[in-house]
Amino acid sequence: MHPAGDRTAWLLGGDATCHDPGPRPRRPWHVILLGPPGVGKGTQAARLVGELGACHLSTGDVFRAACRGSESTPSPAMAEALATMRRGGLVSDDTVVALVRERVRCLCCHHGFLLDGFPRTVDQARALDAMLAGVGTQLDRVILLDADEPTIVHRLSGRRVCATCRANWHIESHPTRIDGVCDTCGGALIQRDDDRPETIHVRLEAYHAAADAVIGFYRDRGLLATIDASAPPAEVFARIVAALPGAAPGALLH
Ligand code: AMP
Repeated sequence: MHPAGDRTAWLLGGDATCHDPGPRPRRPWHVILLGPPGVGKGTQAARLVGELGACHLSTGDVFRAACRGSESTPSPAMAEALATMRRGGLVSDDTVVALVRERVRCLCCHHGFLLDGFPRTVDQARALDAMLAGVGTQLDRVILLDADEPTIVHRLSGRRVCATCRANWHIESHPTRIDGVCDTCGGALIQRDDDRPETIHVRLEAYHAAADAVIGFYRDRGLLATIDASAPPAEVFARIVAALPGAAPGALLH
């Protein structure tokens, strides 16, 4: 598996460019990953981008990077978006679409992409269609990861993230050797604000209110593949690969 490149252009937007985009894949993959928060999208995305040589484009990561950003004060639209995110709600379509439009270069980059967390509404999906058409990119597949609510609540409430290297852990299913300390870099583990139990239900409600229509949007276009994500991660990954058109299971996809 090749390491995925950096995501400077995506995370910072504007004129920022990726310093080390990683090895160029044989073909660029254009894949959307859908599913409720906590279904394991992050885990599968990390593995998929390594195998596909694609860039992991997560809108949630852009907002979290903006939250951590120490430079200038955020624009009024970004400040409002960050406040909404902290409350566990969905940021407005206009703000999210504007944020992706500023990063449209990432949608036609020769490394391809794995979009995660976007689109979340039909209006966002339509806006994405227009952006993709504008840069001459066609989607290969929309992967929907599905699991029941108790599985999701368990996964989210036990998730811990390293404050330094952003590695993901789980207090029961993927614990660190020393409680609260990242095995990878020794950084301190934190619980994301939006992973707190009181926020999880708000996030799930927000997801369900909009997701069915987005799922229908891609099903109607013949792009949707639904994957049962309650299985162990390796099995879920194999199912995803089998759902990618023209990808040989078990083989490097580069
Ligand atoms: P995620 O990491 O994808 O769960 O995103 C974290 C938070 O960022 C969400 O709970 C929303 O507040 C916000 N967010 C990320 N992507 C979107 C989107 N496509 N539409 C609306 N809000 C979003």
